[in-house]
Amino acid sequence: MNYKAPRGTHDIFGINALGLNVLEQKARQIFIKHGFEEVRTPIFEDASLFTRSIGEATDIVEKEMYIFEDRKGRKLALRPEGTASLVRAYIEHRLDISFPSGKFFYSGEMFRYERPQAGRYRQFYQIGAEFYGSLSPSADAEIIMLVCDVLSSMGIEKVNVHVNSLGCQKCRPLFRETLVKYFTSIDDLCQDCLRRLQTNPLRLLDCKIDSDKFINVPKMNDFLCDDCKEHFNLVQNLIRSVNCTYIVDPKLVRGLDYYTRTVFEIRSNALGAQDALAAGGRYDNLVKELGGQDTPVVGFALGSERVLMAAQHSGFFSTLNKNEKVFIAIADQDLISEAFAFSIKLIRNGLKGNNDISVFGPVDNKSLTAQLRFADKIGASKTIIFAKAELGEGKVLVKNMIDKTQNAVFIGQL
Ligand code: AMP
Repeated sequence: MNYKAPRGTHDIFGINALGLNVLEQKARQIFIKHGFEEVRTPIFEDASLFTRSIGEATDIVEKEMYIFEDRKGRKLALRPEGTASLVRAYIEHRLDISFPSGKFFYSGEMFRYERPQAGRYRQFYQIGAEFYGSLSPSADAEIIMLVCDVLSSMGIEKVNVHVNSLGCQKCRPLFRETLVKYFTSIDDLCQDCLRRLQTNPLRLLDCKIDSDKFINVPKMNDFLCDDCKEHFNLVQNLIRSVNCTYIVDPKLVRGLDYYTRTVFEIRSNALGAQDALAAGGRYDNLVKELGGQDTPVVGFALGSERVLMAAQHSGFFSTLNKNEKVFIAIADQDLISEAFAFSIKLIRNGLKGNNDISVFGPVDNKSLTAQLRFADKIGASKTIIFAKAELGEGKVLVKNMIDKTQNAVFIGQL
């Protein structure tokens, strides 16, 4: 039987695996500079944690969760995103009391039963961070700048930063009511819009099918209470003060229920339909709703695969894996142990002080010609050949694989 990776999943290898590693490392360095600490949560949680936090009437909860029962009949779900788990951990370990202004980050696989397409998978990687305990607009601005810095560290400079404010529990209900009235007056709404009109009317704003029909749609900005308006203005002033170009986008509502006030999305022109690299915002009620102390939070998640696609587009991949490849060949099979010991020494100590090398070989039972062919195939720049005559004089042959010249060199000089 031929097996294939399940639909919507993908194997990551070669330059993409290297790229993912570099992205995670760079993000980690930037998080640490901003004072964030890492948290690793389980890949599965009680399914109800996600239903409760993300919201019953969201795409994720309605149709995208991987839910299963364990042997004791517990209803569990593979995590579709990182925030709910982090908030659960934050409350469970009483960090809301001991560490109320905590800054935490995470990275790992997320699972959503979505229709697969370029840039949209059923298992994908996210990197995210959450800043707890600050109502200040500077926390929102810091999170937005942090994402921009991570993208820029991957060579992605040309991005569109969309920001909006969804208001708070005081001002959003009137906006919601006005929206419902407005949308009820529109004919021919699509099935999704008709359903969401009852459950989650804000989502109609970002409907891809009906958006052309929506003219003069009420804008949240006109409904913001004074506090929310001031907060949103300050967030904008702060990001402007550090030269971030952004667009106020009244259609940006985000798919998850827990957002309050600031929401943002960072998009790339280099990608196709799935152009969102990262998204986030503020969720001031989530910790309390899940049973913790009243603690405001602002956070984000970026999609690693999409960031890697944009990084590849910007030429960043050409800067990766600059290690020189060195192949160790044996002209006489019985020199395998000398060659092996030498290869380990090279890996540990480098070649003439150069530690940025990758060492291949020796391989057994292959002719020297076959070994040299292999060295060419993997892109080795040098092959170090162990041959009896030279080794008798304490030397090996160093073959330059580019110009094919070859010299006998004392082993001690390498
Ligand atoms: P969200 O958790 O929906 O706010 O998404 C945050 C980011 O994760 C998005 O901006 C995307 O970059 C990425 N993302 C979300 N869903 C997927 C998916 N199904 N496949 C790949 N990346 C995704």
